[in-house]
Amino acid sequence: MTRVKLAFDDLALFGAPPAFDDLLHVGRPNVGDPQRLHERINTMLANRWLSNDGPLVREFERRVAEACGVKHCLAMCNGTIALEIAIRALDLSGEVILPSYTFVATAHALQWQEITPVFCDMDPATHNIDPSKIEALITPSTTGIIGVHLWGRGCDTDAIESIAAKRNLAVLYDAAHAFGCTHQGRRVGGFGRAEVLSFHATKFVNSGEGGAVVTNDDALAEKMRLMRNFGFVHFDKVNHIGTNGKMCELSAAMGLTSLDSCGDFVAVNRRNYLHYCEQLRQVRGITPIAYDSAETPNYQYVVIEVDEPAAGLSRDELIELMFAENIRARRYFWPGAHRMEPYRSYFPNAHLMLSETERVAAKVIVLPTGTAIGPSDIDAICAIMRLGLLDPARVRARIKERAAAMP
Ligand SMILES: *Cc1c(COP(=O)(O)O)cnc(C)c1O
Repeated sequence: MTRVKLAFDDLALFGAPPAFDDLLHVGRPNVGDPQRLHERINTMLANRWLSNDGPLVREFERRVAEACGVKHCLAMCNGTIALEIAIRALDLSGEVILPSYTFVATAHALQWQEITPVFCDMDPATHNIDPSKIEALITPSTTGIIGVHLWGRGCDTDAIESIAAKRNLAVLYDAAHAFGCTHQGRRVGGFGRAEVLSFHATKFVNSGEGGAVVTNDDALAEKMRLMRNFGFVHFDKVNHIGTNGKMCELSAAMGLTSLDSCGDFVAVNRRNYLHYCEQLRQVRGITPIAYDSAETPNYQYVVIEVDEPAAGLSRDELIELMFAENIRARRYFWPGAHRMEPYRSYFPNAHLMLSETERVAAKVIVLPTGTAIGPSDIDAICAIMRLGLLDPARVRARIKERAAAMP
């Protein structure tokens, strides 16, 4: 049940029942047609083919490659392993430059193989890596740059690739947010040496757990194909170091079913995004991030920036207001990968060079969207934010009072 809040005293922060009985999560999974999923699983069971380059994985790879407009798609068990394998296949070593404002897995995929992640600041206008700050971070040990297309908005591939060409560095993209998006009118997937996708349950197209590397590079694709399957060339022959990065048929069945509904998911995400923008248009201090009208985004994240002086409430206070209503709005990528372990201990002064990252990470809220959320939910969420911002002093005082009452 959803309760629409009309007055200050209706807010859960002040003791009223929450707006939502059930928790509203960011990234509640999109589910395609269950019947199609069941059919695929039944076929899989009849075939008794559960993993190792099965027909569902092959079909999934074909369709992802086609959607990205690339020659090769290598499906993997998740996006993090896909990153690790791509990093290894590119022979990255020493130091690799990446944005700090990303999911921590981008950095972990390097550190896991004892490659040092070197954190670069962001451009606050795009939340993506600021290419003008990359060159200062290059040392004789630098071997590559990983760009992240955050929120599905392509990072500055031209600038990154021109620096990389000049300094002889490999370029890989973490495109976990950008499946189905365009950048400079081209589909994401074909930029750099390779791009990495995630099909985790919270991503808008999902296979439960899953990921992929997409590339136009034949030799690189072949190398990754070996690496994800222990280096096996055929039955008894191993001629490469490898790991187990394979996607299983059950995941591929889910992924294919998700792909069938991909267009519907984007349409719902777009409708939700536009509805949030409309509802928050007149709210001072709250700005939804914008998408380039010349591009095709997937709208899988609804991201707002809170300008505390204008709004009267901090980002964290707004989140507390919403949590009380069972809205699990989230501070994504806060406080930045450089503030998480082990990087925080390895590079205790990293924040000195990451001022924009620190500033933006403190302002961002990601709001619930996806097919589990409808216009009436968005109306209720936005009404709560508007109500809270009508009298920020009272909300702030109430939050302080609650904190003081905590044991
Ligand atoms: C989700 C995500 C990953 C990791 O993908 P998994 O499939 O969860 O391992 C990596 N980078 C970014 C930016 C992500 O959002």
